[in-house]
Amino acid sequence: MKTSRMNVEAVAAPDRNLGGKVALVTGSTSGIGLAIAERLAAHGAQIALNGLGDRDEIERTRARIAAETGVAVIYSDADLSKRDAVARMVSVAAEAFGGVDILVNNAGIQHVAPVDEFPIDKWDAILAINLSGVFHAIRAALPGMKARGFGRIINIASAHGLVGSPFKSAYVAAKHGVIGLTKVVALETAQTAITCNAICPGYVRTPLVERQIGEQAAAHNLPREKVISDVLLKAQPNKRFAEAREIAALTAFLCSDDAASITGAALPVDGAWTAQ
Ligand code: NAD
Repeated sequence: MKTSRMNVEAVAAPDRNLGGKVALVTGSTSGIGLAIAERLAAHGAQIALNGLGDRDEIERTRARIAAETGVAVIYSDADLSKRDAVARMVSVAAEAFGGVDILVNNAGIQHVAPVDEFPIDKWDAILAINLSGVFHAIRAALPGMKARGFGRIINIASAHGLVGSPFKSAYVAAKHGVIGLTKVVALETAQTAITCNAICPGYVRTPLVERQIGEQAAAHNLPREKVISDVLLKAQPNKRFAEAREIAALTAFLCSDDAASITGAALPVDGAWTAQ
């Protein structure tokens, strides 16, 4: 079949359907959040980045996304474990761009230990960042969305929001909580043009997962490849890591007008993990 150059370009370049929209993506200095920010920018949304990391590297990322996509990109260094910082991050983004239309709650951390040995400070930090941070951001962003009559809230939960795994008590509890919160926000906004959904990835190869591979290899004295096949991907029937861009593509779809009726959903992207 003959494929014209024009068709190839039309598929390669996402349309600018989010032009004029503003997206705040938490934890977007790395991994899934960065892929989401890049994708929403490619669709024309102005972007507020957030996350931890090396300042020079973050500035290079900010400038690169702006140059590649032609949208305005700002950065907030808010620590999402601090409730006032979360609210401030939302108002800084709203003041810079005139509002926040799309809120992607993506920042998250992990710690792995048996529940009776789980460090209490790790429990507190995981609940603060992975669950309470999501609540504080939604609470701060929702009034503006209601006032402007449009909103998309996308919470990056996890397959661990739907099922448990040993040694991940805080993470599993927080991610189940995120899905519960998603349902409540969807119900409260059901008769508005605001939607709220959770995406539930299985394993995606990001720095967070690279750290887990290293930790588990050391803990079980196993080679990395064995950790990947026998520990991480044990419950994931398709036996492959998802790519961050797959999560970003679903996020972009949920932001589109075609997804207006999808709300209150917890959408697995997990290679049939939670189908079992
Ligand atoms: P990552 O470690 O690559 O990125 C995490 C991001 O969160 C970084 O930008 C980091 O700076 C930011 N962050 C961490 N603590 C923060 C804090 N206190 N304040 C502000 N920002 C903070 O991780 P990832 O794998 O891209 O994970 C992103 C999200 O996806 C997380 O919520 C994670 O639970 C979820 N998830 C990941 C996977 C996976 O396999 N990678 C699977 C399911 C769900």
